[in-house]
Amino acid sequence: MIDLKFCPNCGRDQLQWDGEKKWNCTNCDYVLFHNVAGAVAVLITCGDEILFTKRNQEPKKGKLDLAGGFVDPKESAEETCVRELFEEMEINVDGDQLQYLGSLPNTYEYKNIPYNTLDLFFEYKVPEKFEVQLEVSEISETLWIHKSQIPFHDLAFDSQRIFLQSHFK
Ligand SMILES: [Zn+2]
Repeated sequence: MIDLKFCPNCGRDQLQWDGEKKWNCTNCDYVLFHNVAGAVAVLITCGDEILFTKRNQEPKKGKLDLAGGFVDPKESAEETCVRELFEEMEINVDGDQLQYLGSLPNTYEYKNIPYNTLDLFFEYKVPEKFEVQLEVSEISETLWIHKSQIPFHDLAFDSQRIFLQSHFK
């Protein structure tokens, strides 16, 4: 964990990291939590093919990813799926058609700070493959890949690799 020393409340250099999820100031008793963040990953499927994205930003730039992202405050996981799929691909998803598949913990390092996430996996079935309008800052391309041919070593995140291997290997 990044070495934060100075308390944002009293300014003294007495912040202590507990090794898991919070800092505590031994001077003023201020507590700052670094809680698990919710995130969603959506398997957009058409028959036996899954839509993957190629990351265009760090971390894991160039690696394969599933559509999705972090849950915003006061948002349901389904709402996150709908919002992220529109932001990333400009596709309109019917939230009622999302099927929850399961969850796995993951770590996501951003600007040298590791975040613990809980990744919630959903499936969204589409009747036919579609062209994606890419939001180029986050995604460089999209690929439809057959469930039997997923290149597990090219996946950006362990949670997705473990999840997909357990389902499709
Ligand atoms: Zn303090």
